[in-house]
Amino acid sequence: METNPIKNSYFDLGRVFYQSIRPTPVRNPELIIYNQALGKELGLAATAFGSADAALYAGNQIPEDAQPLAMAYSGHQFGHFTPNLGDGRAILLGQVVTPGGRSIDIHMKGTGKTAFSRDGDGRAALGPVLREYLVSEAMYRLGVPTTRALAAVSTGEAVYRERILPGGIITRVAASFIRIGTFEYFTARDDMAGVKRLADYVIDTHYPQLKESETPYLGLLDTVIEGQAALIAQWMQLGFIHGVMNTDNMSITGETIDYGPCAFMDHFAHDRVFSSIDRHGRYAYNNQPNIGLWNLIRLTECLLPLIDADAETAVKIAQPHLEKFIHSYQQHWLKGMRAKFGFKSEFDEDKALIDELFAIMAEGNADFTLTFYQLSRLEMDASDDAAMLALFDDAPAITRWLAKWRERLRRETSDDDGRKTMMRSVNPVYIPRNHLIEAAIRAAEDRGDLTVFHALHEVLQRPYEVQPGKEAYMQQPQPHEVVQQTFCGT
Ligand code: AMP
Ligand code: MG
Repeated sequence: METNPIKNSYFDLGRVFYQSIRPTPVRNPELIIYNQALGKELGLAATAFGSADAALYAGNQIPEDAQPLAMAYSGHQFGHFTPNLGDGRAILLGQVVTPGGRSIDIHMKGTGKTAFSRDGDGRAALGPVLREYLVSEAMYRLGVPTTRALAAVSTGEAVYRERILPGGIITRVAASFIRIGTFEYFTARDDMAGVKRLADYVIDTHYPQLKESETPYLGLLDTVIEGQAALIAQWMQLGFIHGVMNTDNMSITGETIDYGPCAFMDHFAHDRVFSSIDRHGRYAYNNQPNIGLWNLIRLTECLLPLIDADAETAVKIAQPHLEKFIHSYQQHWLKGMRAKFGFKSEFDEDKALIDELFAIMAEGNADFTLTFYQLSRLEMDASDDAAMLALFDDAPAITRWLAKWRERLRRETSDDDGRKTMMRSVNPVYIPRNHLIEAAIRAAEDRGDLTVFHALHEVLQRPYEVQPGKEAYMQQPQPHEVVQQTFCGT
């Protein structure tokens, strides 16, 4: 029995914020997966989303009390401003409140045309739906803030891209699907009342403690800055490349959102790019913190009029808050990296030692994840280093570095088992490697075989645990399996 209705507080913001629209039904929906664990965690049993129902997750049936809508937003895409983006193929069904009192947005992607579709068909191909499901759930298990995947369905309809593909729909949840681009939408229209209404909504819904503040909008800015700094530091620690860090893909609540041509690195390269549309490397691995700041400057521009009526004064007030991003990012980065390297204590030389390993990894074509996996298995003496050394083209360089690393570890005061446990809790065994995702998608799209997807999903549920018999999932791709580029697949 549903005792906990779905509401849509976004609906009350007014017509300029969205288009009121229902999902377009699909021909032959089949449920691929329903996230039982997530349903339990969020206490969804008392809501419409407590069970595995293909018609519901296809948008063919919507809960009685839902007020579905397509959210309006703008965005800087690869640096260029587009005033009218919005949910061109997605629907916000509304919010459910968890037993703990948290408000959770329920959002579906691939649900048909809206006022924001422009030339698009409003649909998603099954491949990207499966990719988002796998990567977002893996990110969650890895400990990274992210939208969660609640369900995926195939639609029984074809979508037309470079070739004909089966269609899919993903239902995902997050604290919010409001983006930096949502603020830009109102600023671009000179609608300051809209910016204020949106900011007040975010504060009311997500950061009510800020209501007590004398400077709530600066407080909001600080919160978003801190969330992005922490988030991007975590991406960097796992070798994750988002791929499309446009302002319309940056959440106001600090979750990773909109998994498009994202990827985890195999062999390490500072400037690694995967996305086929990122020709100039704007969203390269090592550029992600800079772009995070660039996006936050766009948000700040929107909030300035709320910070002070005088534009110059507002800039002066906001400036030091923005500058905190870099400091905060570096703090998060160093804290996370120290744990990966086994350093509980803090020494000034740590950063140089950390940077040096990354340089050797780049030079030696070492696999990102396996390097840290092997590092967390090394002993204090060099007797068992063979598997680690084998990852590097250049054994002498890494051998010299390991000697320095052990010297550094000898300055730790805690016991060595504690060091290993800490390292193993932050250095994953399994990540959603690109070639594995590709194989799951190929099997599903080409042969209608979902067993590859399910098997991979299962392994990624426990990324920090060695799972006997699952060694193949740890491995780097064979030369013929290497995925050089990922596609939006939109
Ligand atoms: P994305 O690259 O998925 O973040 O999307 C960027 C913008 O393009 C958003 O406004 C999307 O809603 C829109 N969009 C992407 N694919 C489609 C599609 N197939 N049909 C309609 N709109 C789309
Ligand atoms: Mg997007």
